[in-house]
Amino acid sequence: MTAYSLQEVLEITNGNLNGNTGGMHIRFLSFDSRTVLAGPETLFFALRGNLRDGHQYVRDAYLRGVRAFVVEEVPKLSDFTEAVFIRVPDSLEALQKLAAYHRDRFHYPVVGITGSNGKTIVKEWLSELMAPEYKIIRSPRSYNSQIGNPLSVWLMDEQFNLAIFEAGISKPGEMEKLEKLLHPEWGVFTHLGQAHLENFRNQRHLVKEKLQLFNHSKHFVYCSDFGELQKAVTTKKTEGWSADLFRWSQEDEDADLFINKVERRKDGSQLHAIFSGDEVEIFLPFTDDAYVENGIHCWATMLAMGYKPGSFEARFSRLAPVAMRLELKKGQHGAIVIDDSYNSDTGSLLNALDFLKQQAGNSGKRSTVILSDILQSGIPEEQLYGQVAEYLALRKVDRFIGIGPKINRYQDFFPVGDKAFYNSTEDFLQHLNGGNFRDEVILLKGARTFRFDLISDMLQEKVHQTVLEINMSALAHNLKIYRQKLKPETRIMAMVKAFSYGTGSTEVARVLQFHGADYLAVAIADEGVALRREGIELPIVVMNPEEHSFDAMIENRLEPNIYRLELLKNFETALHRNAMRNFPVHVKLDTGMKRLGFESEEHLEELVAFVQERDTIYIRSIFSHLAVSDEPVEDSFTEKQFERFDALSRIVTDGFDYKILKHILNSAGIERFSGRQYDMVRLGIGLYGVSSFVQNELQNVATLRTTISQIRTVQAGETIGYGRKGVAKENMHIAVLPIGYADGFNRLLSNGVGSVSVKGKRAPVVGNICMDMCMVDVTGLDAEEGDRVIVFGEEIPVGEVADELHTIPYEVLTSVGQRVKRVYFAE
Ligand SMILES: *Cc1c(COP(=O)(O)O)cnc(C)c1O
Repeated sequence: MTAYSLQEVLEITNGNLNGNTGGMHIRFLSFDSRTVLAGPETLFFALRGNLRDGHQYVRDAYLRGVRAFVVEEVPKLSDFTEAVFIRVPDSLEALQKLAAYHRDRFHYPVVGITGSNGKTIVKEWLSELMAPEYKIIRSPRSYNSQIGNPLSVWLMDEQFNLAIFEAGISKPGEMEKLEKLLHPEWGVFTHLGQAHLENFRNQRHLVKEKLQLFNHSKHFVYCSDFGELQKAVTTKKTEGWSADLFRWSQEDEDADLFINKVERRKDGSQLHAIFSGDEVEIFLPFTDDAYVENGIHCWATMLAMGYKPGSFEARFSRLAPVAMRLELKKGQHGAIVIDDSYNSDTGSLLNALDFLKQQAGNSGKRSTVILSDILQSGIPEEQLYGQVAEYLALRKVDRFIGIGPKINRYQDFFPVGDKAFYNSTEDFLQHLNGGNFRDEVILLKGARTFRFDLISDMLQEKVHQTVLEINMSALAHNLKIYRQKLKPETRIMAMVKAFSYGTGSTEVARVLQFHGADYLAVAIADEGVALRREGIELPIVVMNPEEHSFDAMIENRLEPNIYRLELLKNFETALHRNAMRNFPVHVKLDTGMKRLGFESEEHLEELVAFVQERDTIYIRSIFSHLAVSDEPVEDSFTEKQFERFDALSRIVTDGFDYKILKHILNSAGIERFSGRQYDMVRLGIGLYGVSSFVQNELQNVATLRTTISQIRTVQAGETIGYGRKGVAKENMHIAVLPIGYADGFNRLLSNGVGSVSVKGKRAPVVGNICMDMCMVDVTGLDAEEGDRVIVFGEEIPVGEVADELHTIPYEVLTSVGQRVKRVYFAE
């Protein structure tokens, strides 16, 4: 990865220096203090936005170890004794300059994509379609703005040979800046629609601005059927624009790629075209107009780039819709849910409606739209909702539900017979009951803040009635509680091993990342790889690094726990093989647990000598683990562990002139020995809401719940379940629950040892728990089929279940079966 010295940054940005650049090197750029990863190697840009002023977060970034800042105003230096500030007139411009400098160091082609819709899809698809021939760097997710693009460009390095970036603008003048930054050799213009017109005089003005991205491009690919685009291209040509044009069309036979027939089939579309006088074709597994068009943009681009017809077309048949957009899910009672809960502009509404009608048409079901207020459209409300209503009428939607105070005001606009309006998502959910939606295709379209994902969850078919509910707000709350027990500069490593103690990996990691955890720890490399694949960026430690996974670890920036020298030597060989330098590792000491770790001075001295002689390894931290932090009667043992830790860790820290982080406390340790927090702590079970000491401060995170499948009457003297272990002493009502030991409801809880909660009352287990089911006694309780049942959670603490099983909460949490669906919610 690239590194720049601060001196270089100073020269590139042409700023004013305050402080001493020392030998500082920068590898990461950040403008959000919450996501700072490696503080000492990060350059923080204080950007002024509409909502926030980055200068307010300089202190927070400083506490997270950042020492280099680009600012418009220098704060009081005495508060930031170790920091260096580069003062510039405009931080955003400085960020762009630095990125532009970086971009110009690479000479491989850059493809720039712009347009009103479809940029992300075309970028993702092109990357997939051309992956066999190129090593491609592309903008992450939809990093297409003034800030997103510099961050994308920063990812360029020597290992790639093609870059694909998307560029979006919201105001005149912005594209010119992106042009300077991206310098695309290739230009692609996707769909031209009405979206995002607000700051432009008209469509012509918008197109002209967008085309500026390609002022110095050598090649330009576009669809000439967009009249306004064709006009602008012609004008630009007469003004001396030198790009080679590659044009596709469904109307003009003279186009470079002339699409002469689109054959709709049940499973997709067969496209026939003429290219260089020859007949060519591809099959796309889509029928939706927008997807077909995006497929053609990709096809045209590849032909323009020199792909030979007949060599690559089969790849198109394997394309999949780009995630997060128009996801199809199976709903309850024969319904189908189209989940587009992250988008609410009118441009994408029309696309989504087409998709809806098509799904409804194919399946013979009715069509329903659930739509939230449309935010930030820039169009006057009356006009906006008038347009929405017109779209719904055009597409003949059968049923409409509007959610939000604004859309509520325009109820009369909607010419749909079956319509309803609610003020908020919560309001709607309260009125929702099981049978509301049947045999219809439901389009869910809402602005992010409306949390339509909650509606989506409710409407989806529940495959198995047993779920583990994870309360994300409670998780964030618990993190905060521990943070308050620590000094502000102490880092927190959040333990997400074993699927975050059973609660699920990526979702939990994402929340922890957002709320400012500094490090994550997993048990094995695979868990870390899964997190990286889902876009988790925090540094991750692997507690149990196995040799066969070293390459995967290096590739995914997963940092090993080193507990003996042999292991480090083998890891070092792998680093060498991968040409890696300064790769962070964590050294584990054994101070009394007798599990893994260095125990003797001699071995540590060998370790130090080994690392000193090599530039492959960088010791990021040194740590140990407490055996009895939660047992006050054993505190003298814990004290001995601390002393041993001090003595042993000194051997390592003294061996290097850089800072090595020290840490020893786990959850109970933080609660009881905060004087020993050193530089970092490792927080586990407390995050998930369990503690022996501060339980009342924590909130419950995980709730294992199920529903009653059936209630039946058992006569006195009859027996219940396998082995006839449950005996009815008198007539009783029993409820059958769809949860068994395969779901983690331990069989040792059979025959009255364990109980569940129904409407706040306890119902003891009767008979033996089966693999997928169990029976509980609901005699005298007001229980009905379909009622919610809590196995553990707020009403039955995990600790209580653990006691019944003579085990610890850790085991109960991590035993919840993989087939139990994890559902996440925030309050
Ligand atoms: C699991 C683990 C922790 C976290 O312990 P909790 O008691 O859950 O807080 C800390 N350190 C190490 C090495 C661990 O394996």
